Formats: sequence, C-alpha cells, structure tokens
Amino acid sequence: MNPATIKRFKTRLRAWYLANQRLLPWRETKNPYHIWVSEVMLQQTQVITVIDYFNRFIARFPDIESLARAELTEILKLWEGLGYYSRARHLHRAAQELVLNNFPKVPDAPEKFRELPGVGDYINAAVQSIAFGHPLAVVDGNVKRVLSRVFLIDTPVNQSGAHALFSQHATRVLDTDDPSTANQAMMELGAMVCKPGVPQCEGCPVSLFCMAFKTEKTGDFPKRVAPKKIPVREMVAGLILRKGRFLVIQRKPDGFLGGLWELPGGVLDKNHPKEKSLEKAILTQTGLHVRVLDHLTDVKHAYTHFKLRLSVYVCDLSPTTLGPETRENIRWIKPEEIDDYPFHKAMHKCFPAVISWVKNRGGVECQVIKDHAESATVN
Ligand code: SF4
Repeated sequence: MNPATIKRFKTRLRAWYLANQRLLPWRETKNPYHIWVSEVMLQQTQVITVIDYFNRFIARFPDIESLARAELTEILKLWEGLGYYSRARHLHRAAQELVLNNFPKVPDAPEKFRELPGVGDYINAAVQSIAFGHPLAVVDGNVKRVLSRVFLIDTPVNQSGAHALFSQHATRVLDTDDPSTANQAMMELGAMVCKPGVPQCEGCPVSLFCMAFKTEKTGDFPKRVAPKKIPVREMVAGLILRKGRFLVIQRKPDGFLGGLWELPGGVLDKNHPKEKSLEKAILTQTGLHVRVLDHLTDVKHAYTHFKLRLSVYVCDLSPTTLGPETRENIRWIKPEEIDDYPFHKAMHKCFPAVISWVKNRGGVECQVIKDHAESATVN
C-alpha cells in the first residue's frame, strides 16, 4: 500500500469503529488504571467473559492504592475462573511497586510503565496508547489475523519471532493522530468482522485494501504452525477429613496457578500404585502421614500446555501424625468455606464429590479417624 492508500485505510477503519464499536465498561472511562486492568484481563480471555470480572474487580479495587493494600488471596478469589493467574499476581506486584515509590498512578511514559511486573509489549502499547495517546501499535491475535489477511503475510502468526514482523505492519497502519481509536479499531475489526474461520468480508470497512479478499484467499490466512501435541499429566490428590473439615493447601506464590488453594497431592509416581504415590506426595508436601482409604472421584481438565487427569482419594490421618496447624499455607475448612478461598478449576470439578462425602459420610469419617482426632488442632 502506498501512503495515500494507507491514509484511506486508516480513515475508513476509524469511521467504521466510531459507528460500530461495542459499548464496554472500559471504553466508558479514561481512568488509566481501569484501562490497565481491562487490558490485563483481556489478554487470553474473551470480552464477554471479562465484563463481569472487570466490574467486580474495579468495584472492590477502584484505584492502585486499594489494589496494593489487598491480600493476594482476595485478589485471586476475584480472579478465580478467569485463568492465567500470574496476570493477577503481576498486577498486584506492580501496584505495590508504584505505591512503594510514592507514585500510585499509571506512568504516562511507555518506557517506565514497561518496567513494571507483567507489563509486556502488548499491555504497554494498549494502555499507553488508549490512556495517554502514545503512538504504539497494539499487536494481539485479532490484529495479527487482520494484518495477515490484508497484507497476505505468509509468516505463521504463532511462530516465535513473528511478533516483530506483525508489529512493523501494525505500525504502518496506525493512525498516529489518534492511536487510542486506531488500536481499538484494529482489535474490534478482528473480533467482530475479520473473525477466525470465515471472515465477514461483505461488512468489512477495509475490504477495498485487503489482498486476501481481492485474491479470494481469506481461508488461507492467517498461516499457523501446527500446535504441538498437548501432553497428559496424571496427578493424585487426597481428601483428608477431621471433624467435618477437610485439609487444603496453598500453592507457592509464583509459578503455575501460584497462590491458589487445592487438595494436597502431587504428580503420580508411575513406579507406585496411585494410592502409595499419593501417600508419599502428601507426606512430602505437608509432613502428614496418611493412609488411602477409598477412591472418591476422577476429574479431567485441559490447561493450555497440558491435560490433567486427577484421581482423588479419601485418606485417613495416621495416629502418629503431627497436625499442620502451624503452617500458614495449610487450612482445615468446612464445605461452606470453599467460597472463601480461590481454587483452580480442577478443584471445583472435585468439590461436588468432596462436599457429598463430607456431608453424607461424616459419620464414617468420625469413625475412621476418631482415634486420631486429638493429634491436631482444628483451625
Ligand atoms: Fe478480513 Fe475480509 Fe476485511 Fe480482509 S476483507 S480484512 S479478510 S474481513
């Protein structure tokens, strides 16, 4: 495209967006912190899912100070179900850094903002352009799809190193007079018109300039590298009961699902039967000696990089065991307290069986472990 064509492209895209944009809560604000929260939530997550999460989050944490002061557990509880929990942890840490530096605001400076935890190229470009008008082109999955069709880009959108190439094209078509509108327009076009699968070219404001449309190759773009086969991870977890409560532990603060709570357990050691593997895993994790009594349930859950198969067993505390009551990351909770803690989705899939067992077979549990009940203090 020559400069005159690019100018027409920008004009048509802008006019279409101003007339057709969806009304979304984060588009009704100029508050940079609210825009930041929305963009963090929108990474890897669909708009329709984000709306309620965003409204609840902003109602509870209306500014950077309130977020910085909050306990991570409360933040994760509000994030529960949205996935990619490192986003919430990073947002929390970034807010704390800003407060610590006596500057509880989103910096109006891309190079400073980029230094905060969790702020990568996408978040930086989105927040700095939308909130402050800095001329940085946003490149997300929607934008890559549009660009790849408009310019017939052969480079697979999911190939490592492809980002720089797409960023160059995105910068070419960015309207630097109004980067906020221009970036949102590109993302909206990808989400609403230039969709994955079959794009709606008949309603597209830039079809005049689109090479894929002109050459009838819209179905051939974007190119993608075939995804790797997703491995299956087998894990085991234990329901350990005491006086109508069951034991849950908190995952380490960093890493996958960091800070969330779960039943104790671990990866299945294939050298042992599941029951023995679970007993070992719980001993390593909590210091508790348990004996597996009964199979409770099996659940499956698909994460981005692996598929989980989780077997859950009812366990009995050994009479010689010491209680874990002194450990901050271990709690004995009642079924009705599940809502007080952030749990990952696989745990929520187990909970119907857990609740049913605790409520319906509490008598059995008391019978089974009554001899050991004095060995630990219920929190
Ligand atoms: Fe996408 Fe079709 Fe528009 Fe091209 S014409 S940008 S393929 S919707």
